[in-house]
Amino acid sequence: MSRDASRSLYDRALSVLPGGVNSSVRAAPQPYPTFVERGEGGHVVDADGNRYVDWVNGLGPLLLGHDTPEPIEAAVQSHAAEGPMYGMPSEIEVEHAEFVCRHVPSVEMIRFVNSGTEATVSACRLARAVTGRDKIVVMQGGYHGAQESTLVEGDADHPRPSSPGIPASFSKHTLPVPFNDEAAAHEIFEAHGDDIAAVLVEPIQANMGIVAPEDGYHETLRDLTDDHGALLIFDEVITGFRVGGLRCAQGEFGIDPDITTFGKIIGGGFPVGAIGGKTEYIEEFTPSGEVFQAGTFSGHPVTMAAGLETLRFCAEEDVYDHVDDLGRQLRAGLAEIVADQAPGYTVVGRDSMFKLVFTRAETPPQSDPCEAGCRQDPACDRYGDCPTEGTDVTGAETDRYARLFRPGLLEEGVLVSQNQFESNFVSYGHTEEDVERTLEAYKRAL
Ligand SMILES: *Cc1c(COP(=O)(O)O)cnc(C)c1O
Repeated sequence: MSRDASRSLYDRALSVLPGGVNSSVRAAPQPYPTFVERGEGGHVVDADGNRYVDWVNGLGPLLLGHDTPEPIEAAVQSHAAEGPMYGMPSEIEVEHAEFVCRHVPSVEMIRFVNSGTEATVSACRLARAVTGRDKIVVMQGGYHGAQESTLVEGDADHPRPSSPGIPASFSKHTLPVPFNDEAAAHEIFEAHGDDIAAVLVEPIQANMGIVAPEDGYHETLRDLTDDHGALLIFDEVITGFRVGGLRCAQGEFGIDPDITTFGKIIGGGFPVGAIGGKTEYIEEFTPSGEVFQAGTFSGHPVTMAAGLETLRFCAEEDVYDHVDDLGRQLRAGLAEIVADQAPGYTVVGRDSMFKLVFTRAETPPQSDPCEAGCRQDPACDRYGDCPTEGTDVTGAETDRYARLFRPGLLEEGVLVSQNQFESNFVSYGHTEEDVERTLEAYKRAL
């Protein structure tokens, strides 16, 4: 397999783009990234003409895969031809908002923005404004975009910026706690309850492995925030319209957050984010309220058309059955392969997300109830060996993944997440044949 074109593009890129890329994780693949020329269904073709089964899938937004079905293609073309944007309102924004409000249980009103990062920035500002408090509780190993309030590491007693350029005085308002740890959640509210504006949490931690919530964990967060007058913010940028279908993860788990952040899928492959929730909160954004929020490109007609038509397509076709079924086949197939070849590894995921975490478990391989993806069941033999919070994945064999396994899969024509932490995503464009090819490739590359 020749990869000369990718190599030479990366060489050029290194001179004009920092690290050769426009988003950090894209430079993770060893020894250099694959430059994509085009996508087709569940595949991409690289700059050298090599074809791969693609489970990166745009990092989550492409629920339908790389081929946009006809109604979406048509809506995108016509909105691109008609403007393409105005800086004034247009009907498609209203229609998209109505769709989301109709389907997501907790969302009564929504403000569209241009990225998941923008969404969580505005959600934190809103929560701080409506509560008159400064502190935001986040989960260790969670990800909420490249923003000041959440690029924080350490623990609640010693939070510190996870990037240079963020004042330490800023980070002290963010309290990182371990995911799935109810005692830690109680403790943080005992210590800081009157100062906490919100808990910001991914319903499933999906940016560092894929870690499921233990039964009752989100209920605890909901009770604690209610009891202390804080808001519960679900960051559904990844899970929104992927886990739990059109009701999103909150519908699947039966949790009623105050505010939900969206991104990825709701833009149908174009840049997007959104902050949805109860009217009493969302209406606090300017101009109905006082909390400043604005964006030149927000509610961009082409993005709105792509996102809305994508969601309508999902409502009308068997999209979720298809992607969830392939996800199940992948997790089950992987569980079988690792039981045989790498019993210390852990299959994680749910619905159309899957991943193999290179854990160093010394217990027997996954079996009921977790063989189709770890469910964080305390009754399971492997409980404790499987990651219970995103940060646990840093203890996995990340070098083996990056240096041996991923390049091995690439040779087999299969692209998986660019580092050990990100999720893999199934799309409507993937087929059972893609699944079979992928499982065979895992067998050889492991
Ligand atoms: C991707 C992601 C973000 C950031 O979204 P961008 O569009 O990359 O800014 C925020 N939160 C979660 C949970 C994400 O997965």
